[in-house]
Amino acid sequence: MANQCPVCGAPIQPEMIPATRTISFECSNCRSRLQVVKRDRTGLFVVSVTLSIAINILPHNEGVVFILATIATTLTVFVLGSFLLSVTGTPKLERSRPKARPVHLPRNVRPAH
Ligand SMILES: [Zn+2]
Repeated sequence: MANQCPVCGAPIQPEMIPATRTISFECSNCRSRLQVVKRDRTGLFVVSVTLSIAINILPHNEGVVFILATIATTLTVFVLGSFLLSVTGTPKLERSRPKARPVHLPRNVRPAH
C-alpha cells in the first residue's frame, strides 16, 4: 500500500521517506513538512515478555538463571520484532510540527481527549 500525504493526499514514494524516521521531509506536491509517526511498541514488548517467560519456564531454570535467560530472550525477541515491523510495516505519515508551537489556538477549539 502506498503512502499518502496527510495534507494533500498525494502519493508519497517510499524513497522519499528518510531512513532516519525522525527526520522530517517535504511533500513533493504541496511542500508540507511531513514525518513518520513514531510506532507504539508496547504491544510488541508485552508479547516479547510473555513469550520469553513461556520459553524459559520450560527447562525449569531457577532463580537468577531464569531471570537472566528471560531478560536475554525478551531483548532478542523485541529487537527482532522491531526489525520485522520496520521492514514489513508501512510507515504512517503525519504533518511535521515544529518543536516550539505557536500559541495562537482559537479559544473555541479544544484538543479532543
Ligand atoms: Zn502534500
